[in-house]
Amino acid sequence: MNSDVIVIGGGIIGTACAHFLAIKGARVTVLERDHLACGATGSTAAIISISGSGPTSEALLPLSLESYNLILEHLQSFNPPIEIVQGGALYAAMSDKEATAIRPFYEEIHQLGVDCTIMDGAEARRFEPLLADHVACAVFNPASFHVNPFYLGSAYLNTALRGGGRIEYGVEVKEIVTGSDRVQKVVTNRGDFQGDWVVVAGGANTPELLAPHGLQIPIVPARGQVILTEACPPMTNRVLMLVDHLYARQAVSGNFYLGSHTEFVGFDNRITLEKLTAFTRSFTRSIPMLARLRALRFFAGFRPICEDNLPVIGPVPGCSKLIVASGHGRTGVRFSASTGKAVSEMIIDGQTEQAMDAFSPARFVDK
Ligand SMILES: Cc1cc2nc3c(=O)[nH]c(=O)nc-3n(C[C@H](O)[C@H](O)[C@H](O)COP(=O)(O)OP(=O)(O)OC[C@H]3O[C@@H](n4cnc5c(N)ncnc54)[C@H](O)[C@@H]3O)c2cc1C
Repeated sequence: MNSDVIVIGGGIIGTACAHFLAIKGARVTVLERDHLACGATGSTAAIISISGSGPTSEALLPLSLESYNLILEHLQSFNPPIEIVQGGALYAAMSDKEATAIRPFYEEIHQLGVDCTIMDGAEARRFEPLLADHVACAVFNPASFHVNPFYLGSAYLNTALRGGGRIEYGVEVKEIVTGSDRVQKVVTNRGDFQGDWVVVAGGANTPELLAPHGLQIPIVPARGQVILTEACPPMTNRVLMLVDHLYARQAVSGNFYLGSHTEFVGFDNRITLEKLTAFTRSFTRSIPMLARLRALRFFAGFRPICEDNLPVIGPVPGCSKLIVASGHGRTGVRFSASTGKAVSEMIIDGQTEQAMDAFSPARFVDK
């Protein structure tokens, strides 16, 4: 089975690579061991903003802006439509101590040229009546939206399918065989696949696919537990952010998505009462109406976090046709478009528009 490019992983990064490669005319095969968006992508809040709730590394800022704009630019061509909710993000502080913690967000967002607003408690309540009376301060970032991650992944993938590509489900990659700066074959539970190029977008499983190539990439799984509530009439189009990286967003379907702390517990996907209790307490104290909703589902996902908090994007030292695209941590959906675009440029054009050196896998090779 031959194709120009084999992409390993049907998450948001693999499908974004497939989308941008297909736009440049490549025939792509995506190999996915389970089903579309079954990894971190299926658990994500899918919030996309120019700036997150915390400083964005300088090396990532151009990619952040590019990715944000690319997703908005491609909106009309996305099929299926991706259920975008463009209401901005409101960071709420529920005490004076928390107010001190969120004020730097205002500075950071403002410095990026975004027309953000900082409000005292009374202004914040008028602006967003879902917040509890004791809200102390809030920062509003209008340059933020959220999408349905399953639909965004499908829309990315559909571009590749329309370009003659395909996705193979239930295909688990066991080994990538390389030699003489070429990929010789991709060995799977369903036989061998051949491609001129291979992109490894296996999320938190990426390190195990690359270790046989002498590359020890320090990407680890970081569990995030999530609660999905029953659907209710539209209440807010804003992402409501609390301290400790907690956020609530109401999807187009009416369900509230509530997430999520970051836990380093390996690939243990259990849901714990400790975390659920802690974060439902924060949510219901800060956004009281949530207490009246029934919880429908609890689930957990593994963010692929790299030890230096930068993604890993670029060729594997020793095999220029084997490309890594992983390690996006808390922001894989946000950076999906710029990552897919950069990978397509590496493969088709031999050079990238954005500076990508800071993300090269070569940084993990002993000098
Ligand atoms: C609770 C939570 C909330 C989040 N919120 C946000 C947010 O608001 N905004 C944001 O931008 N990001 C957010 N993220 C982070 C984002 O979801 C991830 O960074 C992103 O989904 C990673 O995508 P990926 O494609 O790299 O990995 P994954 O989605 O994990 O995809 C990897 C795929 O590779 C497949 N695979 C692995 N090994 C093999 C193999 N050997 N053979 C074949 N297939 C294989 C897996 O089955 C999987 O489908 C959140 C994550 C979590 C868990």
